[in-house]
Amino acid sequence: MTGYPTRIEFATAAEIIRDVAGKRMLKAERVPVTRASGRVLAEAITSPIALPPFDNSRMDGFAFAHGSLSAEGPMALRLAGEQFAGLLQDLDVAPGECVRITTGAPLPRGTDTVAIKEDCVEEGVVVRVPAGIAAGADVRRRGEDVRAGVLVLEEGCLLTPARASLAAALGVASLAVTQRPTVAVFTTGDELVEPGLPLAPGQIYNSNRELLMALLRAEGLEPTAWPSLPDDPERMTTMLTDAATAFDVVITCGGVSAGEKDHLPGLLAEHGRIHFWKVRMKPGMPVLFGEMDRALFLGLPGNPVSVLATFLTLGRELLDGLQRRREPRPQWKAVLGAPWKKQHERLEFLRGRLDSTPDGRLQAMPNTADASHQLRAAADSNALIVFPEGAHDYRAGDVVDVIGC
Ligand code: AMP
Ligand code: MG
Repeated sequence: MTGYPTRIEFATAAEIIRDVAGKRMLKAERVPVTRASGRVLAEAITSPIALPPFDNSRMDGFAFAHGSLSAEGPMALRLAGEQFAGLLQDLDVAPGECVRITTGAPLPRGTDTVAIKEDCVEEGVVVRVPAGIAAGADVRRRGEDVRAGVLVLEEGCLLTPARASLAAALGVASLAVTQRPTVAVFTTGDELVEPGLPLAPGQIYNSNRELLMALLRAEGLEPTAWPSLPDDPERMTTMLTDAATAFDVVITCGGVSAGEKDHLPGLLAEHGRIHFWKVRMKPGMPVLFGEMDRALFLGLPGNPVSVLATFLTLGRELLDGLQRRREPRPQWKAVLGAPWKKQHERLEFLRGRLDSTPDGRLQAMPNTADASHQLRAAADSNALIVFPEGAHDYRAGDVVDVIGC
């Protein structure tokens, strides 16, 4: 089996995935703003209106013209009306007058400053406002958050709740977003039993299905779990080729290594196309990427921690490429909390805990249970610590990159 890159660097693998996925970009669809959060924006949004759309009060209090105040001391203003949040009343406020106002209410004509309710004394139709209020105090100016006609959301950004809400605040009722990829999830292995069923000698529970399904759901997708595949090439072929005609992405785990029962690389070479097999990373070295029919095919290794690391790095690269997500995923710099002897050459994603120290530094504490079957270590961790290629003795305090998980 040759004719495709093998034992490649992690960065090359990520590039190949981006490239292949970019050519298969999913179509855009229009969704109501109420359903847009979590999706990737497929258009640029320019503000159709200003935010705030009009000058308004920042506080509950009294609005007046700043020119009404004397420099010396508190000032008595005549209460001339009320303006609550809602439609602008047809009030004309003269110098020496004020209007009762609530937070978010438009400033009536003739006013430019607000005195906070708690600082004022009401005596019938007279309101005493304190001295020393600055001109324009507690007023939110039209357009001070967003001016009309400016770029507010870039194409390719992830619509976070705040961004979807910004679109709503601007009156944008629907947004063009990239379609969500449909994903078929397969686990493989004659040893697998579903939780809830009895375990015969030699069998283990299928934990990767839940891992992959949960990771995909955390990406805002609705993945489909297929029945687990036996280590039988014919039955694997039937199910995988079936899924590949109907889904955008097929993700498998297990069966990609060099064992007698690792049928997937051969199967993909025969019924599809391999873009790469094996990446110089730890864990996850045997990861396989290619395509089959209409689906992109990501064959993750079987060990649970390999599934986690390869999905979070290469799997998300694939999803981002398909959805044209341009914003990089967050990654942090942290100081190592303990030394780490890295004795191999591959890029490593080590499980660990990212916490802040009392003196305000981010610290990454490696988990010493670093083998790829040690799921407990992953469950106890909240981060992957990234050690670049090359063997190296890291000391406590060395700066490392960290990915949240
Ligand atoms: P494989 O690459 O298929 O040889 O699998 C590597 C290791 O991962 C073996 O110890 C498998 O038993 C284990 N493994 C594979 N698939 C799963 C799964 N779905 N859940 C838990 N462990 C698995
Ligand atoms: Mg297997």
